[in-house]
Amino acid sequence: MIIKPDAVSRNAIGAILKRVEDRGFKVRQMRMTRFTREEAIRFYAVHRGQPFFDGLIDFMSSGPVVPLALERENAVSNLREIVGATDAAKAAEVTIRKHFGTNIPRNAVHASDSPETATGEIAFFFGEQV
Ligand code: ATP
Ligand code: MG
Repeated sequence: MIIKPDAVSRNAIGAILKRVEDRGFKVRQMRMTRFTREEAIRFYAVHRGQPFFDGLIDFMSSGPVVPLALERENAVSNLREIVGATDAAKAAEVTIRKHFGTNIPRNAVHASDSPETATGEIAFFFGEQV
């Protein structure tokens, strides 16, 4: 998971972490960092060529982010359930994105979309030793 710049700037790190921990996740790694444009381009390489790509890179490199390595059973599906839909304005009422996000791309958090992606994304921020 990544707590995105919009959520960091609205002081929502603690509130988001509480929701994640209350859902049974263990925080295994966490840090605060800021994407350079080059790092954001590398992280979101699958979206290169999309019309929203430049806006996404601008936004993700606009301020600090908090990447986390999280652990629990069925972590990907459980996390995506409490995160909610990509467009925060359309996400279900009780979700993290509905509560802390605004729209797309300002949707408060990133959640890995498969165990394989999660492994690569965790390595991106924390190296292999998780
Ligand atoms: P994330 O990968 O951030 O968890 P997601 O899996 O729900 O979100 P993706 O389709 O992977 O959504 O898109 C990655 C990010 O790109 C989104 O979180 C959003 O910030 C941005 N994005 C996706 N689709 C659009 C769009 N149509 N217009 C603007 N931004 C978009
Ligand atoms: Mg995604």
